[in-house]
Parts: sequence; structure tokens; C-alpha cells
Amino acid sequence: MTVPEGHTVHRIARQFTADFAGHRLAVSSPQGRFAAGAARLDGQVLTETAAVGKHMFATFESGDVLRVHLGLYGAWDFFGVVSPIVDGQDVRGSMGAPRLRRAVRMGEDEREPPSAEGGLVASFPPDPVGAVRVRLATEESVADLRGPSACEVLDPSEAQAVVDRLGPDPASTDDLDAAGQVVVERITSRGVAVGQLLMDQSVVAGIGNIYRAELLFRARLDPHTPGRRVPREVVRAIWDDWAVLLPDGIRTGAMLTREDLDEDGRARAIADTTERHWVYGRGGLPCRVCGTPVVVEEMAGRKLYFCPVCQR
Ligand SMILES: [Zn+2]
Repeated sequence: MTVPEGHTVHRIARQFTADFAGHRLAVSSPQGRFAAGAARLDGQVLTETAAVGKHMFATFESGDVLRVHLGLYGAWDFFGVVSPIVDGQDVRGSMGAPRLRRAVRMGEDEREPPSAEGGLVASFPPDPVGAVRVRLATEESVADLRGPSACEVLDPSEAQAVVDRLGPDPASTDDLDAAGQVVVERITSRGVAVGQLLMDQSVVAGIGNIYRAELLFRARLDPHTPGRRVPREVVRAIWDDWAVLLPDGIRTGAMLTREDLDEDGRARAIADTTERHWVYGRGGLPCRVCGTPVVVEEMAGRKLYFCPVCQR
């Protein structure tokens, strides 16, 4: 299972920008648990969608903001018109599918949405299947949310308060340099292990378990190093690296973190998840650089992977 990290949430926000922004939406809660929130949004025009870290904020014409956090199990299923969101290329889903029959899941894994087969649905709009918390619909596109850890309607100041509690996100800032300084301050002022700080969304937003392990390997940094013992230039290099990996993940839809691959190697790694990472998911397997078995241990309740030799 792949837990959504920042790149997935940015891709989802872009999908909404492509197919839902500017439209008056029918909003419902087929499952019923979001009935009041859905009633407040129903019939409004969606004006803007943005991601910060792992949160998506969809702003409606009244100023109401739908905030969604997918958590461990959440996913969005898109049906009907699902426009390409990157460089005019369809990275996932069925090329050439009939315009109103496409089905694409974005979230916790790469399974197909229920009621879909081969990236298509039999009819549009599809009946909601299972526990759909909220359905957003235009004439041509439907998005179903299931299993989120947060789905709520906020006013603009409440939404801003959520953003203010988050650390910088390289894909949602106009000033990478200033944002990098904030991250350097937040990490180098703490005694907590850097492996834990990178997962702390108030320090830097959007990094999950996979990007955490891979960023630390790419920096050849021991995850147990206390933040205040990490040289400022090393933290800055990790931020700069995150500002490269995140847009790459948004573009490809995959967390491909090996910079040693040529074009063919990248294509293979896109197709085969076991080829994508330096250390993540490789506990006990030989380090791709030095051959030492990759160590897996628990850090703050999550699995941490690292090479004990390369990351000394
Ligand atoms: Zn190694």
C-alpha cells in the first residue's frame, strides 16, 4: 500500500482545477456522514483548488472552503471527463477512452475505482458504490471521496489558520529561498531526530514515509541525527532536493527517487515499484550503493529505512 504523499494531493488539486473549477457543482454525501457540509456547498461554483502539503482546499463562490485530508486510507475516484493534468500527457488511465466513461483513482493505492473495469465505467454518471463521503459533480465529471481522515467545510479564516500551522511546501510557495530558510530554522533549532522532523507537517509539508527515507539517503544523512546537529547547508540541500522530487512526482504520479537511472531505467521504474527507491521498502536487501543490508526499524510508529554505512 502506498500512502498518499504531497505529490498525490497536488495532482488531485490539479484534476479539480482542470475539470471542476468554474463549474457550478452538485454536491452530495451518498454515505450521509457529510450531509450538512454537502448541503452548504451544493449548487455553488467552485472557484479555486489548491494543495498545501497533504491538505486540499477547494474554495467556492461564497468563500466556503472544502478541506480534505486523505490520511492513510482516503482516495478520490474520478469518472467521466478526466482531463490530462500534466504537459498534455495522459500518465495514467486509458488513452483514447470514450469521453464520458473514464475512471481514475488518485489516493491510497493504484487499484481501480469500484464499478470500473479497464479504466472505464459502464455508464455515466456511475452509481455511488460503498462509503462515498462526498460526491462533487459537473455535467461531465464526477469525483467521489472515500475514506478520508478529514472532510469539512471551513470559512476563509479557518482555512488560513490550517495553512498557517503547516510548514512550507515547495509546490505552493512563490519564494523557494525564503521557504527554505524557514525549514532550516525549524530543523536546526530542534533536538528531535531529523528523520522525525521531516515527517512533522509543521516543519515541512507534504513529506511522507517514502520521500522521508529517500531524501535522507540522497543526502547520505543518518536519520537519527538530532536536528540541531545537522549542518544548515545540509538541511538547505534537503529542501532543495525536495523542491526537485516533488514536481517530478506531480508530473509522473510516481515517487521515483533514484537519480542514477537513465531514460530506460526511469521507464522501468515507473512500471515496477521495486525499482523506484534507494532504501524505502528494501529492508534486508543490499544497499544499491555499498551492498550493506538496508536497515528497517520503527521511528515514531512508522517504518524507517536507511543504509547504516552510506548514512553514517
Ligand atoms: Zn549503503
